[in-house]
Amino acid sequence: MSFEDIVGNNKIKRELQEIVKNNSISHSYLFSGEEGIGKKLFAKEFARMLLCLKNNKACGECSSCVKFDSENNPDFSIIEPDGNSIKIAQIRELQEYVYIKPIVSSKKVFIINDSDKMTEEAQNSLLKTLEEPPEYIIIILVASNENKLLNTIKSRCLKIGFNNIDKKELIQYIIKEQILTNPSDELLSMCNGSIGKLIKIKENLEEYNEIEKNTKDFIECNSCTIVNLFKKFDILYKSKEVIIDLLDYMIVIMYEYVLKNKQAGYLLFLISDIENTKRKLISNTNYDMCIDELLIKMSEKKP
Ligand SMILES: [Zn+2]
Repeated sequence: MSFEDIVGNNKIKRELQEIVKNNSISHSYLFSGEEGIGKKLFAKEFARMLLCLKNNKACGECSSCVKFDSENNPDFSIIEPDGNSIKIAQIRELQEYVYIKPIVSSKKVFIINDSDKMTEEAQNSLLKTLEEPPEYIIIILVASNENKLLNTIKSRCLKIGFNNIDKKELIQYIIKEQILTNPSDELLSMCNGSIGKLIKIKENLEEYNEIEKNTKDFIECNSCTIVNLFKKFDILYKSKEVIIDLLDYMIVIMYEYVLKNKQAGYLLFLISDIENTKRKLISNTNYDMCIDELLIKMSEKKP
């Protein structure tokens, strides 16, 4: 893995390379941006560069790089949420390592992935390390929702803001990695510039394709009987695991249609019905009943 293999955010690649080249390294960084756009990959590659013994070039050959690539570099570590959160015990464990001097390189790098999932206690505890880090320490916080981080934490970090990957880059990636054949515009919009989302979609591609076909049929057909709708959207009853994503996809398809065909205003009302259905499903209202209700609304609102 190198920067060249990571899609998008080329400006940040150059920025990070400059930081290392000029040795203008801060003790703490906040890598902030949408989920699934490669922030953690960037953080790992940045760490690899910082630790490399050959002019910080992430050479792949020095003992630091070799250890890094086989995931046993003692000067590097990643903290991930334990269940739904990063707990104070995990931060305390990190703090013990922080004060042990580096072994292979002259620096030590820690990544706290999904750092926005740190409990408040954990954040307050980390603050002490951010306030007075040993000179060899670099901590990279990766966050999709930086609003959940305390201002005191954010103010200690140099923020690197990541952009979503644009459609052109996403298509290039899809072709290069042979992920999907002929993805529709709607599917690309659904990815919203996130490789993570793209991969999630691929795992349930059959469901997405069925939803796309049936939603488009629904919009274009003139005689949508309720019986027909129940038959067509049977998949909604069977896809509990991914239902919120599938409902989101229906919204994307309807919204794209409204953008192109301004007369289809009834779809805007349906979009708000789908949003309501999502809310009800999240709050555990009877599953089948929610879907029933939505399909009835679709049949009533269809002109
Ligand atoms: Zn190296």
